[in-house]
Amino acid sequence: MDTDFIDLHVHTTASDGTMTPEQAVFQAARSGLRAVAITDHDTVEGLPNALEAGKRAGIEVVPGVEIGVDYPGEMHILGYYVDYGSTRLSRDLAELRESRNRRNPRMAAKLRELGFDITMDEVTRAAGGTVVGRPHFAAVLKQKKYVNSLEEAFDRFLGAGRPAYVKKDKISPGQGIEMITSAGGIPVLAHPHYLKVGCREEFEELVRGLCRNGLKGIEAYYTTHSATETAYFCALAKTNGLLVTGGSDFHGSNKPDIKMGRGRGDLRVRYELLSKMKEEKKTPAGGNPDSILRV
Ligand code: AMP
Ligand code: ZN
Ligand code: FE
Ligand code: FE
Repeated sequence: MDTDFIDLHVHTTASDGTMTPEQAVFQAARSGLRAVAITDHDTVEGLPNALEAGKRAGIEVVPGVEIGVDYPGEMHILGYYVDYGSTRLSRDLAELRESRNRRNPRMAAKLRELGFDITMDEVTRAAGGTVVGRPHFAAVLKQKKYVNSLEEAFDRFLGAGRPAYVKKDKISPGQGIEMITSAGGIPVLAHPHYLKVGCREEFEELVRGLCRNGLKGIEAYYTTHSATETAYFCALAKTNGLLVTGGSDFHGSNKPDIKMGRGRGDLRVRYELLSKMKEEKKTPAGGNPDSILRV
């Protein structure tokens, strides 16, 4: 049994995963993981059930969330140990979901203009929860046999710059970090691989800027990171006094090639990283002297 391994990036039916929070937690336990973080997009609604399931399954569950912020490519910020009962956090996340809800009908309209028979009702039904995202559009396109795979739906229609893509209104990276920090959470830069940054110097300057905004960690271990990238992100974390985290970005059958805790097979994330994060949670001032955390 892999008792020393964890997965700090897992989606459920509360956003665009296909397992309920409870199923995801039991799956993590069955996979032999020692801890799992539930990090749904723009919502914390899966967390109470996930934490409860953790007690029954005998696995440590870390409450989390993932939000998208405005930056070329995809910049996502993970928030760990957020106070999911906070009314301010609920309100902030509801605003992010409203931005999705303004975008989604425009994407459905574009798909119809492209000749597909697809309604917002169908997409909402495919989502089943309060967060409707592009993977749900992809699922309907596949179900109606317009595409053979979810990947094809993104490559041809839904990905950034493709004909049915519509950008959401997003908050800035600093605002995203602030949203998580003000809910008592630890903000971490998710899958840095997906950022569109010109060169290493530019990327390093970006990370320094995010640190000044209060960033506390970087997801160095990730399904699509090569060993070289992981080593580079770990080194960068060290230079900037950041925590290192890692996770698979498990989405159940919405990303069928990704296994919990293992990504595409090579991923291994040690519990030790979570221990360090918990230390940071206890002594938030210890992290980074430059940070401009809220007073
Ligand atoms: P949204 O937040 O609704 O814009 O959807 C973004 C989500 O779509 C990401 O978090 C991923 O889960 C998924 N996604 C983005 N690009 C791809 C892709 N090329 N293939 C599969 N899933 C993707
Ligand atoms: Zn997702
Ligand atoms: Fe993400
Ligand atoms: Fe994710």
